[in-house]
Amino acid sequence: MAKRTSILFWILFLIFVFGFGGYSLSKIRNTKNPIRVSNEKVFIKPEEPKKEEKLAPSSFLIPKSDRTVKNFKIPILMYHQIRDYNNPKDNINTNLSVSPLNFKKQLDFLKASGYETIGFEELLKIYSGEADFAKKPVILTFDDGYRNFYTDAFPLLKERQMKGVVFIPSNFVGALAYLTGEQIKFLSDWGIIIGDHSVSHIDLAKGSISLQTEELKSSKIALEKIIGKPVLDLAYPLGKYNNQTIEIAKSLGFRTAVTTNYGLISPSSNLMQLQRIRVTNNTNLAGFLP
Ligand SMILES: [Zn+2]
Repeated sequence: MAKRTSILFWILFLIFVFGFGGYSLSKIRNTKNPIRVSNEKVFIKPEEPKKEEKLAPSSFLIPKSDRTVKNFKIPILMYHQIRDYNNPKDNINTNLSVSPLNFKKQLDFLKASGYETIGFEELLKIYSGEADFAKKPVILTFDDGYRNFYTDAFPLLKERQMKGVVFIPSNFVGALAYLTGEQIKFLSDWGIIIGDHSVSHIDLAKGSISLQTEELKSSKIALEKIIGKPVLDLAYPLGKYNNQTIEIAKSLGFRTAVTTNYGLISPSSNLMQLQRIRVTNNTNLAGFLP
């Protein structure tokens, strides 16, 4: 009898020691390093998108930390058409076209190299020091609002949860080979940024103040009506602008403007004269990306 009681005592004793010890350990594991746990939440598990047809929230931005970014170099890539096109007699349009296959390879290269696509909102937060970045940022821009952005570029971006900016001349909306209003709205709702590219794609530097104002104001209003949200980013048509253009754009509420001037952007870049890198079908991104 005494022996049985003693065995029972030892069994209960062991359950108590290991059970309680295991509990304590798991408690400690959960609370020991709260910073690490919160970092995991920010970097590894971004909040799940609620609707299927939406770009997932960016894991790019993190609250400003002790790391300050003083010497960033951010590429803004400039695309026009994503299509198979190679005509030796038409160099201009050949150079403005990147095949869907090469575009796909370029996107995969960016992903594999640790780049994350951002928009101008995130860029402004980096400039103002409100946010730091976890990955290497890149901005993908597509000029002129070609319909092949919707048919050929967007599916590849969507598949990879990558962001892009489309600059659209408002007079081109719905024209043959250009995006329709419905497509623009759909893209915007998904998370593609819609930017302004004037009404009729003229050389603004040659226009009077009133013409320049009309070109930028009417296009902004027309695009905002389509997407139901503010249009705050501009691309100067043909890359042409002067000081008046910049002042008019600022007075109309544009927060950024991209040019066709070559270069990576840095803390000293002017937000109304942002440099870009033209991408052609044969561009090897590895050659110049930071
Ligand atoms: Zn253009």
